Amino acid sequence: MTFSKNESFSKDELEAWQLSHLKETLIRVFHLVPFYKKRFEEMGVRPEDIKTLADISKLPFTTKKNLRDNYPFGMFSVEMDQIVRVHSSSGTTGKPTVVGYTEHDMDIWAEVMGRVFTMGGLTCKDILHNATGYGLFTGGLGFHSAAERMKIAVIPSSTGFTSRQLLLLKDFGATAITGTPSFALHLAEKAKAEGYDIKKDFSLRVGFFGAEPASDGLKDEIANIWGIDYHEVYGLSEIIGPGVASSCKHSHLLHFNEDHFYPEIIDPKTGEVLAEGERGELVVTTLTKQGLPIIRYKTGDITSITRVPCRCGRTLCRIESIVGRSDDMLVINGVNVFPSQIEHVLAKVDDITLNYQIIANKKGHLDKLDIDVELSENCMSDDIGELTNLQKHIQHELLNALYINVTVHLVAPKSLKRSEGKAVRVIDKRK
Ligand SMILES: [Zn+2]
Repeated sequence: MTFSKNESFSKDELEAWQLSHLKETLIRVFHLVPFYKKRFEEMGVRPEDIKTLADISKLPFTTKKNLRDNYPFGMFSVEMDQIVRVHSSSGTTGKPTVVGYTEHDMDIWAEVMGRVFTMGGLTCKDILHNATGYGLFTGGLGFHSAAERMKIAVIPSSTGFTSRQLLLLKDFGATAITGTPSFALHLAEKAKAEGYDIKKDFSLRVGFFGAEPASDGLKDEIANIWGIDYHEVYGLSEIIGPGVASSCKHSHLLHFNEDHFYPEIIDPKTGEVLAEGERGELVVTTLTKQGLPIIRYKTGDITSITRVPCRCGRTLCRIESIVGRSDDMLVINGVNVFPSQIEHVLAKVDDITLNYQIIANKKGHLDKLDIDVELSENCMSDDIGELTNLQKHIQHELLNALYINVTVHLVAPKSLKRSEGKAVRVIDKRK
């Protein structure tokens, strides 16, 4: 069952819808947002030059910096008397980015979130424990407003206060939960420590998780611990908040609500549009929003798009879970590699820790990648032969998984420099 008929559009229906809404959006931003008028004129393009969906590549990109430079309301295409909601980023690194919604935008948000909830089979009989953060961040209120519109009882528990959350989860009999995957794990550990019997004491059957990356293994683990269906929800406030894409029952891929948000995948270095299946930076153009319409927004998130049909019958394209951020991507002899992918391979190897450092260098014209990996303190072997085998094994696994040749150096436990705060995983000496 789908929430709206657009989710099963034919290719022709979808493209006709996208093109007509794209044209409307371009006229709107050109005439109502001075920033876009100036950018379009600088690039020598006018709204009427966009005659096909492929023409979108003629348009300029929008970045987070553009939003900051136009702080607070400079990118809005309506007066404040039409705005009914404002959200904002935390702005820990400079001015925050501000987003605004008209009543029409709130309808769209509720619609795409309705699709998310429907994928999880929610109805008005469900009770939703909303353990996503409330406030300026779009997460908590994004889930909350949409749930209310679907007449779902919503518990606005937000984050923190784990013991009280467990009490409410049990006593209120919530059937669905939202939050980050790490909070779902933390909640389960705490429940065990406090003597709850997870499968008996709680009534959860479905969870909607997002806002941080989770491997398929972690998703399955959370699903198993709680005995729930795991749905991933992707979103970002610049586009609308949660509800840009979400996974159905059939796979970990996420259906992208491309009738409202037009997706492209580009090469983050060159800006060139990539083909279906190729991995690159996700760029999104809003097609129906009024408060903050946005053209070719560079999300910084790395993923790929597939149009392979899904068993659920929805025809909207799907993206893979976000692989990483474009800022973290290394290009090694033409192959794109993310530290997260290397970590994923290391995590499956015994006798080493996840303390590692990646060093990119040049050898002649070629890129050379070295990785220092700390041995585990439990690794008893000091036999040179065994250690050489371990080193070769890791190199082989990396070549198999990522198609790159890496030289692995096994180093003594606790020998890599520790940093305060975020670990320095990559040293790129080519720069
Ligand atoms: Zn599906």
